[in-house]
Amino acid sequence: MLEIKNYMEDLVFEEMDAVIKDIQCCNCEKCRMDIAAIALNSLQPHYVVTEKGRLYTKINTLQQQFGIDVLTALIKAAIIVKRNPQHSDE
Ligand SMILES: [Zn+2]
Repeated sequence: MLEIKNYMEDLVFEEMDAVIKDIQCCNCEKCRMDIAAIALNSLQPHYVVTEKGRLYTKINTLQQQFGIDVLTALIKAAIIVKRNPQHSDE
């Protein structure tokens, strides 16, 4: 079974923890998802065909290729979310 996958999603989630820590942004699920959505909207998608459920080893190569772009997009997104968090206050 094959599937289409946007590698940028993986890269974004891989780098996210470090960025949230650096920016000292809220780490709740809503804020994390908002950061991912904002970052991914500003990045060019990079789709690949992959075998479903299979772990791939290509991510390091892609990280070198797109790492800086992903990091820049994540930092911008984390700053936006930090300034105006959309999570509920409850
Ligand atoms: Zn939050």
